[in-house]
Formats: sequence, structure tokens, C-alpha cells
Amino acid sequence: MSCNHHPAVESLLQHASGKTSGLQHLMIRLHCKVCDHCDKVVTEFESLGGETLESLSDTPLQVGAFQALMKRIQSNADVTEVDSNRSDYAHLIEKILGREGKADKLNWHWRTKRFAEIPLPTEDKGFDAKLIYFKKGMKVPRHTHRDKEYTLVLSGAFSDDSGEYKRGDYVYKTSHDEHSPVATSDCICLAVTTQPLKFTGTFGPVLNWFLN
Ligand SMILES: [Zn+2]
Repeated sequence: MSCNHHPAVESLLQHASGKTSGLQHLMIRLHCKVCDHCDKVVTEFESLGGETLESLSDTPLQVGAFQALMKRIQSNADVTEVDSNRSDYAHLIEKILGREGKADKLNWHWRTKRFAEIPLPTEDKGFDAKLIYFKKGMKVPRHTHRDKEYTLVLSGAFSDDSGEYKRGDYVYKTSHDEHSPVATSDCICLAVTTQPLKFTGTFGPVLNWFLN
């Protein structure tokens, strides 16, 4: 199966080089479980030695560059191993994505009748991680992002002005993106942000005060 929304190629390259942080690593690894396309790209980068490719990415190609690249790949045979330690919630998230987990049994903090969240512990400084659950038809008030927001759809689907996002889709939004997502079926996502959301609709000022 493949997905419609993918991490940037640079992120896949960083992932293949073992340079992504814990949360980013988790999100890309889980996306690749569902997305054959990105899984293949990561495997190809890994077999080429992603670290070597990344270090060469700013260098213009010159005569003999391919031979130089191969030499560097051979000398870097011990490319950084990706940390395979998983915390408990990583295991739980994987089960939900794999349709084995029973999300209804989790200890959700219900904010409204149709919207719940579970804050997740993270050691990634500057990142905030949550599992979020929107019931079908739930519309998140219009907001923008003070910085970056990464979302991985674990089950169900939601849509916004840019399209529909389904199981496995990886969505990246920045301060340039303003949207109002709506759950098109009961939807569970892993959401990682670097700053709280900034609500922009009529009730924006109240929501910013209340929710952040
Ligand atoms: Zn993908």
C-alpha cells in the first residue's frame, strides 16, 4: 500500500543516515510501514550510505565524483545504526497503526464530546507530542502554526483545504499554513509540534487562552 502524503526526501535521507530525533525517527519509521514508496527510498539510501550522500549533497558533481562517492561509501561501511529502543507508547502507536490496538481502551482526556488527546512523554527538547482522537465530523477550529507541526495518521482520516489524509499519511505544516481540519471518519493521529497552535477564527483569542 502507498500513501498520498510523504516526508520530504531530505527527511528520508536524514532518517536513512540515522540522524533523525526520537519522534521524527518514530514517525518516519511508522510511515514507511504503510508507504511502500518511502520504504523503498529509505532502503536505497541505506544501501548507498545515506550519511555519505548527505555530506555530498551541497557539492557540485565533478569528474570522478562517482568514484569519490564510492570510496567514501566503502570507508563509511559502519553507517550509524538507527536506535531501535522503543518506549512503551511507540509500541502502542504501532499497534494502532497496525489495526491491532484498541484505541477506545486508552485513557483519553476528553476535551469536548468529539475531541480527545493523550499527552506523550518525549525526550526531544522543544517538541510536544500527543495522540489525538477526533470523532467523525469533528472540526478543529481554524488555526495556523507558530512553528512546525508534524502529523501521522494512525487510523481513520481527516481533510483540510489541501486534501484528505488517511492511515499512514505524513503531514507537515508550518507557520505559512492555515487550516481547519475535519475528521471524515473517526480519526487517531500522532501530532508533534514545536510551538502551540495559534487559533485564528472568531473565537481565536479565547481558544488560544483556553487551550494553550
Ligand atoms: Zn511515503
